[in-house]
Amino acid sequence: MRKKIVAGNWKMNMDYTSGLTLFSEVLNMVNDEAKGDQQVVVCPPYLYIHSLVQLSKNNSRISVGAQNCHQADSGAFTGEIAANMLNSVGADYVILGHSERRQYFGETNQTLAPKVDAVLKAGLKPIFCIGETLEERNQNIHLGLIKDQLVEAVFHLTADEFAKIVIAYEPVWAIGTGVTATSEQAQEIHAFIRAEIAAKYDATVAENTTILYGGSCNPKNAAELFSQPDIDGGLIGGASLKSRDFTDIVKAFNS
Ligand code: PEP
Repeated sequence: MRKKIVAGNWKMNMDYTSGLTLFSEVLNMVNDEAKGDQQVVVCPPYLYIHSLVQLSKNNSRISVGAQNCHQADSGAFTGEIAANMLNSVGADYVILGHSERRQYFGETNQTLAPKVDAVLKAGLKPIFCIGETLEERNQNIHLGLIKDQLVEAVFHLTADEFAKIVIAYEPVWAIGTGVTATSEQAQEIHAFIRAEIAAKYDATVAENTTILYGGSCNPKNAAELFSQPDIDGGLIGGASLKSRDFTDIVKAFNS
């Protein structure tokens, strides 16, 4: 059985105090209200990871993750954070390849592949983001592009390594826009991704891979999206900044 996950990406939001308050609210609400075995991952700015890990220490449902990392173990890379540093403060996950990192920081499938390796080497789990722009979808080149993202950034992994990663399908046109992919659109791409994984590895690896949907997911549309056979949860941006909304998305698995 593959893991069901709801991951929150806070991006560059929240100061330290409001971040701790938000996380404490999420911890309490999820503890009190969530049923089922879905895992929750919260990815705050780097600076808050250690504190959030301390707050959630005895909570097996909630993990903390980062939004990026550097590919090297250490060295003269001013301002950067290594995957093993994230491990040393208790992070469990690292989001890689988010479309904002690709768009604003020039990340490519080629530069992301060694980051995926570094995260796995540090004992952490990558949440690897893929997805097309509206232009690419309108040109009908999106399936090929998504396949390229997989082939170039993660299909160099062995089956054992691949078993540790989470894929997040995030159509760029749905991120932060309020426009959500319909559940049919999302399911179509998730099934395509799973089929590509089966073709590269095998049916068991594909069946066991958690594939999240991201893009304007909210408490109103989450249950419908999560009921699709190949959608195993969500990567949540804006709605992860509100404890009520985020908890209701976590609870959407039970509705
Ligand atoms: C994201 O940035 O990963 C995301 C899905 O954002 P939003 O939920 O705000 O669309």
